[in-house]
Amino acid sequence: MKLHDISVVVPVYNEEKGLPELFERLRTAVEKVSRDAEFIFVNDASKDGSLELIRQLAETDKRVRYISFSRNFGHQIAVTAGLEHSRGKAVVIIDGDLQDPPELIPALYEEYCKGFKVVYARRKSRAGESWFKKSTARLFYRLLKRLTHVHIPIDTGDFRLIDRQIVEQLRLMPEPNKFLRGQIAWMGFRQTFVEFDRDARKYGKTGYPLKKMMRFALDGITAFSDLPLKFATAAGFLVSAIALLVIFYALFSHFVLNHTITGWTSLIVSSMFIGGIQLFAIGIIGEYIGRINNSVRNRPLYIMEENNVDQEEAK
Ligand code: UDP
Ligand code: MG
Repeated sequence: MKLHDISVVVPVYNEEKGLPELFERLRTAVEKVSRDAEFIFVNDASKDGSLELIRQLAETDKRVRYISFSRNFGHQIAVTAGLEHSRGKAVVIIDGDLQDPPELIPALYEEYCKGFKVVYARRKSRAGESWFKKSTARLFYRLLKRLTHVHIPIDTGDFRLIDRQIVEQLRLMPEPNKFLRGQIAWMGFRQTFVEFDRDARKYGKTGYPLKKMMRFALDGITAFSDLPLKFATAAGFLVSAIALLVIFYALFSHFVLNHTITGWTSLIVSSMFIGGIQLFAIGIIGEYIGRINNSVRNRPLYIMEENNVDQEEAK
């Protein structure tokens, strides 16, 4: 298999309005680096005309390759599919909504040429993002840093350039609940960053509503840390210790002081508290078990309904 100089992987979910501009800007930026490039669009079952547009791009430019999913499998899986089918010595992952400026690619490539295996794009500022999103993201990355030993760079998304070697390593990590930025950080290698100002989304709306964000955050935590499980154990110990003290006090008060409290308040408070802690602990365990279950089923990560990558790869 002959490798291209550079591949660009773009996950696409309802991005029809921005796609033509995106491709123009991508092409211009990438050609500054090399003409031997490929552009891989992964359509994550968009509900708008994105697929139609991607097909047109593929017809006008032979370097455009695409995959279209049978349903929405999510951003991380879309990127994974693109990576699996990429054939570049260097691979750029970039969002399809123009929030990540394609013009940064030459700068990323320059660092790559200095020998870095991972060059991530760090957000100096984030325009057009809600206060809520920015503060929860900051909180989450702080928490993750405390919970794990993997150093995941703050203020970065998946916009980055990675070496072929990283792509091959990712293939060997088949976990279904992907947290790519964590997996890449976990691998080590020489990493560096280039800073940029993140634009606001130009068209359309985010494909990451709160629910998806929460799931993504939990994927990140469970994939890299067992600390929540240890928290359940610690909470169990603490509550048991308190319970033991209360039991001694109750027995002492009953048998020695001959004084029995007719307390409804103490009963309801303690049973509610213990019930809450128990459910919380079961919930934590459940998050892990659900992911184990997901791994054990061993289903394919995604299903392609249409693509123009298979025929070429068969050649
Ligand atoms: N995306 C995707 N599948 C999804 C949601 C999003 O492929 O289910 C794509 C989307 O088209 C974009 C990128 O992933 O290229 C990042 O998503 P988005 O911009 O919606 O997230 P945000 O920037 O708001 O975090
Ligand atoms: Mg976006």
